[in-house]
Amino acid sequence: MGIKVAKFGGSSLCDAEHFRKVKAIIESDPDYHYVVPSAPGKRFDDDEKITDLLYQCHRKVERGQSHEELFRKISDRYLEIAEALGLDFDIEGLLIDTSNAIRQYKNPDFAASRGEYLNGILLSKYLGWDFIDAKDVVKFDRQGSFASEWTNEIMADALKLHKKAVIPGFYGAYPNGDVHTFSRGGSDISGAIVARAAQADLYVNWTDVSGFLMADPRIVKNPKCIRELSYRELRELSYMGATVLHEDAIFPVHRAGIPTNIRNTNAPEDPGTMIVTHPSADRDRDQIITGIAGHKNFTLLSIEKAMMNAELGFGRRVLQALEDFGVSFEHLPTGIDTMSVVIADKELVTRKDQIIQRIQQTCQPDSIDISAGIALIATVGHGMTSAPGTAARLFTALYEAGVNIRMIDQGSSELNIIVGINIEDFETAMNAIYRAFVKD
Ligand code: ADP
Ligand code: ASP
Ligand code: MG
Repeated sequence: MGIKVAKFGGSSLCDAEHFRKVKAIIESDPDYHYVVPSAPGKRFDDDEKITDLLYQCHRKVERGQSHEELFRKISDRYLEIAEALGLDFDIEGLLIDTSNAIRQYKNPDFAASRGEYLNGILLSKYLGWDFIDAKDVVKFDRQGSFASEWTNEIMADALKLHKKAVIPGFYGAYPNGDVHTFSRGGSDISGAIVARAAQADLYVNWTDVSGFLMADPRIVKNPKCIRELSYRELRELSYMGATVLHEDAIFPVHRAGIPTNIRNTNAPEDPGTMIVTHPSADRDRDQIITGIAGHKNFTLLSIEKAMMNAELGFGRRVLQALEDFGVSFEHLPTGIDTMSVVIADKELVTRKDQIIQRIQQTCQPDSIDISAGIALIATVGHGMTSAPGTAARLFTALYEAGVNIRMIDQGSSELNIIVGINIEDFETAMNAIYRAFVKD
């Protein structure tokens, strides 16, 4: 007997049919004590996510327009689920109150959080479990940073009072009680927080794929599933764009030594992916790499100056210019007389010219070259960089696919090799790297 915490994503709770699958999964294992639901997601490709509709409602309210017609779409989804499942409580009243509160509070986070709140109430009624409102147990400080230790204390105390409970994902509250959300996809973080506070033996993250795949299935066709992944590998992959799990969902469970299991609600018999602190010794040794992930929209600043290597403080002055304008960077590959900085486009939007000017003033370089339209791809795996021939294989694959490499960075952790390429080569490069390392 142990304790398991389950998180179900939006696609796993998109309609009544999926609620039934969720109930069957939960009831098949008495170890499940706490469930963290997302808001209903898409039922088909061009369907709308409840969270997106709620943000739209808020925008209408803010513009002084009526949000009622739009909110009807939301109400209809919940009513349909409640009716099909034969849930007997005043859901209509709850929906009317919610709609009024969205108009009254004029707060985007509050509006967005109602997707999880309503779904949590529905699921708790359907399972016959207690409901714990996340605003009472997930806390942010006044600046909006997640208050991990405070949350852990009050969450642990609250869980002790409920043997079986549903806690909605995605939101919590500021110290004054106002609702605040995590960033999009944040229910993964809520699930991890509950797992830590419950001192769970396992955090099961139920989604719509049978585990963490070696590459994004929307780019590489039928990628293989990763059976076991370390938290460090996961961090590299999710930071670099493997969106299956929110990148911040790692910290609470990793720190508490709780493994995460990614499973498919639509194929619950599949074992999925286990994410663990230490990879097991008998892990498939034929597989050099663990996974590939990538991200678009970076800019490469290449700064050149003869004798840069001998000039004391050059690198510091470049980074100072970034810091002065509040810009963080991703990578910093250097040569003898060149230094490059890779920066996400969103960081540069309004500050590019000022930063260049500052670098010109303080560093007096021979040239600064700015290349926008860069994509980064990380190839990740424990000990990968120490396996002979790995880099050669990767670069040969890109060369043969006609992809020009703009930047190379090999993390000192020996866990990854990152290449910068032109955005238009992104899909080609992902597929080329995958094929070079993974044999069907
Ligand atoms: P949920 O609604 O359950 O939170 P998400 O849509 O957030 O699910 O995440 C699951 C999706 O992540 C998959 O459907 C898949 O399209 C996408 N994805 C991207 N990269 C990967 C990967 N490496 N492995 C698995 N899925 C991935
Ligand atoms: N419903 C929220 C979103 O769409 C949170 C989540 O699904 O994890 O981003
Ligand atoms: Mg998600």
